[in-house]
Amino acid sequence: MSTKLLLRGGLVYDHDGDVHKPAAADILIEGSTIAAVAPSLPPERTAGARVLDARDHIVMPGLINAHYHSHDTLCRGMFEELPLEFWLLYTLPMGGNRSKTEVRLRTLVGALEAMRCGITTLQDMLGLIPFSDDNIDTVLDAYAEIGQRVVFSPMVSDIPAIGMVRHRDLLPPDIQEMIGTRTLGSASEQIAFLDSQIKRRPAGGTLHWACAPFAPQRATPELLAMCTDFAERHDLAIYTHVYETRGQAVLAREAYRDHDGSFIKYMKSCGMLNRRLNIAHSVWLAREEMDMMAAADAGAVLNHNSNLKLKSGIAPILDIRESGMRVGLGCDNCSGSDVQNMFQSMKAYCMLAAVSDPAPGPHLAHEALRNATLGSARSALLDGQLGAIKPGYKADLVLLDMKDTAYLPYNSAARQLVYTETGRSIDSVIIDGRVVIENRKVMTIDEDALRAEVTELMKSFVPEYEAMVKSRAVALPFLTEAHNRVWATPLELHRFLTRTTYRS
Ligand SMILES: [Zn+2]
Repeated sequence: MSTKLLLRGGLVYDHDGDVHKPAAADILIEGSTIAAVAPSLPPERTAGARVLDARDHIVMPGLINAHYHSHDTLCRGMFEELPLEFWLLYTLPMGGNRSKTEVRLRTLVGALEAMRCGITTLQDMLGLIPFSDDNIDTVLDAYAEIGQRVVFSPMVSDIPAIGMVRHRDLLPPDIQEMIGTRTLGSASEQIAFLDSQIKRRPAGGTLHWACAPFAPQRATPELLAMCTDFAERHDLAIYTHVYETRGQAVLAREAYRDHDGSFIKYMKSCGMLNRRLNIAHSVWLAREEMDMMAAADAGAVLNHNSNLKLKSGIAPILDIRESGMRVGLGCDNCSGSDVQNMFQSMKAYCMLAAVSDPAPGPHLAHEALRNATLGSARSALLDGQLGAIKPGYKADLVLLDMKDTAYLPYNSAARQLVYTETGRSIDSVIIDGRVVIENRKVMTIDEDALRAEVTELMKSFVPEYEAMVKSRAVALPFLTEAHNRVWATPLELHRFLTRTTYRS
């Protein structure tokens, strides 16, 4: 018989119920699954269950971070605002040839932070070079060790990173090389590797797989078609970066004329525009493209905080909503917005929608919560399993202590979870029926030992990283020139609060 856990007397957040004043209920968990939710459960039903007192707590579905990369968690706090195309110079190296110790620790650091902030699923779109069994095992073993649920997708690409930069011809060869002029191998080699990994480490428990072509401009039609087929064969979601920056939109218009200057049409021509597809960012997505996405049941994963810090612009939330596109939320890189905190993502969703239209409404707090749970679950094709507190769903739950000042006074769960909560009141977290944080103590790993190991690693990591950053300063004048040309190119979309005149 599976183990039983009973959460007693919490205010259980129900997307379809009273989102402002959720009712108290008991939650019975059997094994990894929610077995019952009711105001009170008969003693014979709960016999033998371990009881967690959830009175004076809101119990919410675990948050699902639908866009994340674990490769740069050690670089948090290293940068202030930088346009994405400049920042890539410093973040891409984290995807390649790092030590096993570093890969393990960075995975644990990101997962630990996420858990403490109530994130019970991470979609890790990982830059991992070389593709090896050993590298994959190091990452997956770290997630298993800490007990974090992961939707895992090592990124594939068969066009080098320099392919992302418009006006790359302005860059001398050595600068192009810094950004990346090599690929991981042929499309078929990369897909064959992923096939072998899914066979070797099959999905189950807290491990789920997804498919992640880095971006359309980094993938040949052959690779996109192979990814489409791979996702179909294994019944997986697809995640890819699309229209994060103005430069990418300009690149689409100028270099993809055969597809009417549209990455969405390019992906469609490769069979990828379907219900499996999720595009991270969608900042510079045109309305016609939103309608195509919505009609195909394809979705967006919005990462506002990363888009703001990396000077990419503001995603057109209200237009995306109006088109009917599905939406999930994410936090993106740790050196891009520096924190894995979905409360910040939810708040940004509401706030940036607010400054997109001066008319009153719409009220978005409960919708932000829905997108950060059910919407993100749907992005991974895990709808019906994750994102709500209902019988049959996986027991991924977060307990928030209402003695925190965030609830003093308590007027609305939905609004205070979105506008007031920072993650500070989280005291217990359950993933797959397992209590991974209890009364603020991480139960799965020795947090102090991890801290000591990271401190030791950073003694060599920091000087090495700083030397790399310094050596790349030579690229900045060339990137600035390319950047200025991109901003001088007319484009029909506006996603930026610009000064009256752009400084060229
Ligand atoms: Zn990303």
